[in-house]
Amino acid sequence: MRMWGINPKLLCRQHLLGEHNEIHKHRHNFVKHHSIKNRISPVVQIEPENMKKRHDELVEEMINRGYNHNAPYEQPDLSHLINDERFAKISIDVSVSDLKSRCKECSDRITSKYF
Ligand SMILES: [Zn+2]
Ligand SMILES: [Zn+2]
Repeated sequence: MRMWGINPKLLCRQHLLGEHNEIHKHRHNFVKHHSIKNRISPVVQIEPENMKKRHDELVEEMINRGYNHNAPYEQPDLSHLINDERFAKISIDVSVSDLKSRCKECSDRITSKYF
């Protein structure tokens, strides 16, 4: 999974819903204490500590756009993670350049609204 971390208004429908769904799907990895090493290195793809906060930001934008949302997200216990994993920070610059190169609609949104 991959969290984009950018302003949710800049994500197209597919990437907004995709990030939201993956946050829900990934939760069991924390509950089961699976290794998340490959989500943190070499590129930070998730921010475990901010999962709930990010989920709620995405949902706010989903509701603004009239999409449905039913399942709340409960922040899992993360105390088993080392601090470098638990408090990892994704790079917004990497997210922006990846989205611009792989998605026309995200690229249009990012270009028109931010830069
Ligand atoms: Zn949700
Ligand atoms: Zn997109």
